[in-house]
Amino acid sequence: MAEIIIKNLRKNFGDFTAVQSSSFKIEDGEFFMLLGPSGCGKTTTLRMIAGLELPTAGEIYIDGEEVSQKPARQRDIAFVFQMFALYPHMNVRKNISYPLVSQGMAKAQIKEKVAEVSRILGIEDILDRPVGGLSGGDRQRVALGRAIVREPKAFMMDEPLGALDAEFRERMAEELRALHDRMGATTIYVTHDQLEAMQMGDKIVVMNHGVIEQFGTPQDIYDKPATMFVADFIGSPSMNFLRFHGQVHTGATSIRMHHVDLSVPAVREPFEGDMVYGIRPEHIALSDSSESRGEVVAAEYLGTTQIVTVKTASGNLKARISSDQPVRSGEQVGLAFNGATATLFDNQSGKALR
Ligand code: ATP
Repeated sequence: MAEIIIKNLRKNFGDFTAVQSSSFKIEDGEFFMLLGPSGCGKTTTLRMIAGLELPTAGEIYIDGEEVSQKPARQRDIAFVFQMFALYPHMNVRKNISYPLVSQGMAKAQIKEKVAEVSRILGIEDILDRPVGGLSGGDRQRVALGRAIVREPKAFMMDEPLGALDAEFRERMAEELRALHDRMGATTIYVTHDQLEAMQMGDKIVVMNHGVIEQFGTPQDIYDKPATMFVADFIGSPSMNFLRFHGQVHTGATSIRMHHVDLSVPAVREPFEGDMVYGIRPEHIALSDSSESRGEVVAAEYLGTTQIVTVKTASGNLKARISSDQPVRSGEQVGLAFNGATATLFDNQSGKALR
């Protein structure tokens, strides 16, 4: 088990900065997500922590020890690249015991460890089978078995479920999380899938263009996005953005936007300029008495809820409402915003005003 601290970590490839100065802390036993779009620097960050890439600047501490310049093999970390990467000519038992055999561990001890790991993963009955004929799920479990058998301090996983179809992916995500909860080993997991990060992670770092946009629990990041990028990247459908020019005073709990007063959580600093009012679809209700009005242009049925798109003077807005509430395309509706949950952003910097 390991606590991992990252301080001002940076990586340049020639003139290009793949990871800007980054700092965050991963608590012992945490399931930690590095999330962001393709090319944002998450794999490079993971590779630096694992020791597969040396940082240009900054420090990495694993359990208090500075390891930034140490080779991967001295860091005691298991890197799960792609869960399907097994030795095809060996059976399950040999695949799992391979890392211990290479360490020169005694045969009896290896047998004991393989038995323990296969019990945790529920694969005791396939130990003597060749890996070639296994189902996808069993192959994943064997690959995991090989990673956990040597009891590393931490696990690094780079999009381990990326190649799977949606249904299987969801099942393996649940299994991985359950396995983590049983073992409690610090895990860093790279993904570009915001839903996967929200469902699996204890904490999430959201990256964009090599910069950490926000670091926090899934709930923090969803409810209190630090930037417009995070607000837009997390949640489906995305947060609605209403742009306007105006001012907000310290402690004010409402703002005037396009001749309508909207409530907002009180801000600590006054601001005047171009702002964005961000509100999630589930925090907009249809209400006849509201002054904000628009025309329904689409309704997407999702079972218990529906996503209604309403064309307003400030652009199209999406509201998530109950499917029981009847709506028709072309209908005029009022929109009520639950302002306590809204976020105001400075349009220029993209940062939340709080
Ligand atoms: P993806 O999900 O697409 O892998 P990522 O967020 O993991 O994206 P990285 O692989 O960390 O992104 O890459 C970040 C940036 O650094 C990209 O622009 C990539 O092209 C660049 N990069 C990564 N490795 C190298 C390298 N060895 N040499 C030059 N540029 C690199």
